[in-house]
Amino acid sequence: MTNFTEAPAPALLEVDRVTAGYGGPAVVRDVSLAIKEGRITALLGANGAGKTTLMRAICGMVRFTGSIVLGHELLSGQRTERIARLGIAHVPEGRGTFIDLSVEENLRVGCFARSTKEGAAEAMERIYGWLPRLAERRTQRAGSLSGGEQQMLAIGRALMAKPQVLLLDEPSFGLAPRVAAEIMRLLRRLQSETSMGILLVEQNIEIALGLADDAYVLRTGAVVASGPAAQLRGSHALRDAYLGAH
Ligand code: ATP
Repeated sequence: MTNFTEAPAPALLEVDRVTAGYGGPAVVRDVSLAIKEGRITALLGANGAGKTTLMRAICGMVRFTGSIVLGHELLSGQRTERIARLGIAHVPEGRGTFIDLSVEENLRVGCFARSTKEGAAEAMERIYGWLPRLAERRTQRAGSLSGGEQQMLAIGRALMAKPQVLLLDEPSFGLAPRVAAEIMRLLRRLQSETSMGILLVEQNIEIALGLADDAYVLRTGAVVASGPAAQLRGSHALRDAYLGAH
């Protein structure tokens, strides 16, 4: 018998009851979420809600209780470099390209976490296919790129490792709307052309929910709303999370 029900996308990364912080009161509290194959998951919430801290916990940059599992690998207690090699790439807020290195040299840095057999040159051509503006500027110093190009370079560097999961912390921050839209078009392409799971922190709720498949809303460190992005759009739960109503 044929089953016409669409199979749910498998979870690549599962965060289960994670609590994290910096030694004082917890800033992420009992958060559970799943990042699924080939889907964009938006992580929303007001300033200070704990979005960056949750990404840092996934990357092993802050201690946490609860569990984070990538495939069959438990990430708790693993070092950041090992987590990167297991297939999680992180583009932190503020980009962090090496300004004195060229575009190409910056991309090569992204090779460190590679666990695939694909060669560096092949990986680079794959990245240039998605980001032709970088290809035109391959010998240019990263510090002389525009803000948007630097953001693209940071994403390109993360993609060099062919990650299973890409964590993007406010990739459109400080960019002109036209440039931000270009970044979002890139994410849409990655979503349709790869099986990578993407976790996106984005201040612009409309942009994030227009792009994402799934969404979670954090308020003071806890998940207060979650579900398909299309359903969360305009919902009371979302508005309450931002306005602070109960
Ligand atoms: P934003 O949208 O403003 O970037 P966010 O949702 O990403 O906010 P976090 O950056 O995770 O929130 O911050 C959550 C809380 O943790 C805040 O109260 C912040 O001051 C605190 N915090 C963040 N980084 C540190 C740190 N290194 N040491 C101590 N406290 C921190």
